[in-house]
Formats: sequence, C-alpha cells, structure tokens
Amino acid sequence: MSAPLRIGVSACLFHADRERPVFNGKPLYYLEQSMARFVGSQGALVYLIPGPGDAQGAESYAADLDGLVLAGGVDVSPGSYGETPIKPEWAGDAVRDAYELALTRAFLAADKPILGICRGHQLLNVALGGSLYQDILHQVDGALVHRDKDVYDRNAHTIVFQEGTDWVGRLTPAARAKVNSVHHQAIKGLGDGLVVDARSEEDGVIEAVTRPGAVFVRGVQWHPEFTDPTDQTYLDNGPLLAAFQASALARRSST
Ligand code: MN
Repeated sequence: MSAPLRIGVSACLFHADRERPVFNGKPLYYLEQSMARFVGSQGALVYLIPGPGDAQGAESYAADLDGLVLAGGVDVSPGSYGETPIKPEWAGDAVRDAYELALTRAFLAADKPILGICRGHQLLNVALGGSLYQDILHQVDGALVHRDKDVYDRNAHTIVFQEGTDWVGRLTPAARAKVNSVHHQAIKGLGDGLVVDARSEEDGVIEAVTRPGAVFVRGVQWHPEFTDPTDQTYLDNGPLLAAFQASALARRSST
C-alpha cells in the first residue's frame, strides 16, 4: 500500500481590504469546502499551496507534491495574455495570475499532472501562450448564458466531446453530457500543445482541453466540485479525478 497522493490546490486570494470585517481586512488565502472534498474524494491528501510572497518557491511545491489543481475564482487579467481590459470590471487579478502561472510552469517543468478547473482551465491555457475572451456575451456572437448569478452553479448546458479525444469510452460513456456553467470568460486562442476535448453544443465555446502526453494535463471549464455525484443527469466527474490520480501515481513510481 503506497502512501496517499499529495495534491496541491492553488489558493483563492482575498487581498488586504480595510472594509472587510473578516480577519480585520488582512490578506487571506482560501479554499472552498467543495474543492477540498472533491479533490480528496478518492483518497488523496489535499494541500492548499500558499500564495505569492511565501518562503518556498513554486519549484519546491512542484518537487514535493504529486499533482496540482488550479482552482476557480476571479477573472484572469487580460494583461496576463497581452491584452488590455475592454471594461474596467474585467481587469481580473494579475497578482493571483502571476502566482498560479509560476505554479503551473513549475509543475509542467517537473512533469507532474495538472487539472485546471474553470478559471484554472483558462489559466492553464494562458500559461501555454493562449488567450481568452474577456467576456463571452460581449465577444462571441450568439453565445449562451454561461454565467447566471441568480442560479449560479445550477446554470447548465450540454457539451459535445470532440472526435479523436480519449474522453468517450475512457472518461465518459457518451459523446455529449450536461455540465454546470459559472463562467463569463472562455478560451479564445488555444495554448501551445493543447487540443480541444469538448465544446458547448449550442455556441461552440471551448469547455475542455488536454495536452496529449504521458502526464495528465487537462482543463475543464465546468466545476466538478459543484456537481452532485448522485445526480445522473450531469456528467460523472469521478473518472476525470481517477485519471488525474492514476497519472500522479504513475509519475511517482517512475522516480
Ligand atoms: Mn459553459
């Protein structure tokens, strides 16, 4: 019996804010309960990787941990992929981008598996040189509503897995599935080495990507951690997590 896998999750950041009563406005690193439970649901130990400015660099975490989950959250800053914000409210968080870009590059360099979720899927794309739509409704003609603040993670749509990917048969039985949708940004220009695994059926928005190779590097635009695993109308995300962990285990036993 080998020791449990050690999976790092990137932190969400609350920057210093004197108006915020929680912890007297001091800067915080945080993790949603649903994310910790999802990542740990198949036996892995879950670690929150502290944010920018900590003593240990990204390379140390990549050396010590078996895999990286890039969490969801705030918008990616257009400056991180060479654009300026079309509207001030789409400026995103360049501080969190820099922290997660460094982590992503370190885990890629260490050949350790990466799973990007929502913002993390977009961040992975940017780390590999890709770009994003700053706002789907503003920039994609005929787009669906991919984020509805009133229903939040109960907003959903169908995705279609693209031919030639290993999703159908390996990670899911059918060529289409229902997923939640809590995003207003999306992949525009694809990052180096990535292939599109799934698109939104109605408007073609990219919903899943993979970097083919021996080590698991994937992004999904939906939130597996918000999906009720007993609701069979949705995609079952168990096989996705299992494949991520299998890659982490294989990587561990190769060293
Ligand atoms: Mn969507």
